[in-house]
Amino acid sequence: MKRCHSNCGKNSHVAHETMSDTTVTIIGGGIVGCAIAAVCGRLGLPAVLLDQEAGLGRGTTSRNSEVSHGGMYYPTGSLKARCCVEGRRLLKDFCLGAQVGYQECGKLIVAVTEDEIPQLESLLELGKANGVEDLEFLDAAQVRQLEPEINAVAAIWSPRTGLVDAEGAAKALGREAAESGVQIMTSAVLESLERKNGLWQVGVRPAVGGRREGWTHSSDFVVNAAGLSADHVAALAGVDIAGRDWSLVRIKGNYFRINPEHTGRIGRLVYPVPPKDHSSLGVHLCLDLAGQLRLGPDVEIPDPDKDLVPGSELSYHVDPSRGESFFEGARSFLPWLEKKDLTPDMCGYRPKLAAHGFRDFVVSRENGPLEGLINLIGIDSPGLTSAPALADLVGRLLTDQDETRNSQC
Ligand SMILES: Cc1cc2nc3c(=O)[nH]c(=O)nc-3n(C[C@H](O)[C@H](O)[C@H](O)COP(=O)(O)OP(=O)(O)OC[C@H]3O[C@@H](n4cnc5c(N)ncnc54)[C@H](O)[C@@H]3O)c2cc1C
Repeated sequence: MKRCHSNCGKNSHVAHETMSDTTVTIIGGGIVGCAIAAVCGRLGLPAVLLDQEAGLGRGTTSRNSEVSHGGMYYPTGSLKARCCVEGRRLLKDFCLGAQVGYQECGKLIVAVTEDEIPQLESLLELGKANGVEDLEFLDAAQVRQLEPEINAVAAIWSPRTGLVDAEGAAKALGREAAESGVQIMTSAVLESLERKNGLWQVGVRPAVGGRREGWTHSSDFVVNAAGLSADHVAALAGVDIAGRDWSLVRIKGNYFRINPEHTGRIGRLVYPVPPKDHSSLGVHLCLDLAGQLRLGPDVEIPDPDKDLVPGSELSYHVDPSRGESFFEGARSFLPWLEKKDLTPDMCGYRPKLAAHGFRDFVVSRENGPLEGLINLIGIDSPGLTSAPALADLVGRLLTDQDETRNSQC
């Protein structure tokens, strides 16, 4: 690995006891890690990004609905609410500037019965309080005007909600970072983290099939953006994750494709009113940037004997028998849908902090014996949308400009 010294260049605000190989090591090259790498590049901070996969954006970043969310679902003032609204604006600007696919197709949250209308009204108020732009309440006739093939008695219309090429955005952020000097190391697995003489010693081994050898480098900061493995990485660094309540539950979300003969029938995202337990946003109608229709994601509860065993491989198989519940869930608002229209598509896993109610993103900079470690834990939806705002927050933590330093936000 090319050596770089953290007390060179523009980062004179970083205090050093010993000279390090780099200022920042980012674990994880998903959308969040790549956005953080781009911020390090903009701040002139020498940085290395590690990802165990052979390319960037191959984790949860490439297994989701690719929706750039409005920001109306989350408690006002929470990191999820603030980062979603701010992140969406930043993501849109970045994608348009970098020629990454982004389309402001808009979204309808539909009530299919009169008794769901109060929930829509509360969601509209929450969205407005969160600063989501241009939200409108539509009656049945107005919904029909926008989307004649949908059954709804009322809806919230969110014209700023969009679609994004998530993997493309991660790769473009990684390219920007590399152009400003950040070292992007793929097929590189973080193996050990040890704080010694005021620096982090970062042990890396090559992924199976990777071409380079393993190495250890020293770093002033380590940013843990390891997605589904973020709790393991924090534990590796010495964080008592059980004591902090940072253990992640990996909750599978499956998708079913709608027969391509229906492509073009609906041009906007359509969501039901969300379940009250915050487990998901409800099985919704997604579009991709080519206009193809999909349903998903559902919530598949993990099997404690298999899925929750530490180190066990996650299965990315979609069980065709789940199609039945997709059909039942969607036909209330898609009256033309037939069972035979649905075929299993892909799935992803949400890195969920265990909770019965709402849990916010955790973005936390350590002090004391783990000084220099920044953890991002529980970055589930709207993590894709929020990534650029989360990265700006990490940038402020790296440069001591954030008042939330040393605390869980
Ligand atoms: C079904 C589903 C639907 C969703 N829909 C949306 C949506 O529409 N809109 C939205 O905003 N959000 C959505 N999300 C959430 C969003 O996908 C995630 O919040 C986001 O992708 C998280 O990005 P990340 O960079 O934190 O994680 P990841 O993309 O998982 O990146 C983490 C990276 O860390 C690497 N890594 C892990 N451990 C190590 C190690 N030891 N060494 C080296 N590298 C390591 C992995 O290889 C991986 O590439 C959805 C999530 C799911 C599961």
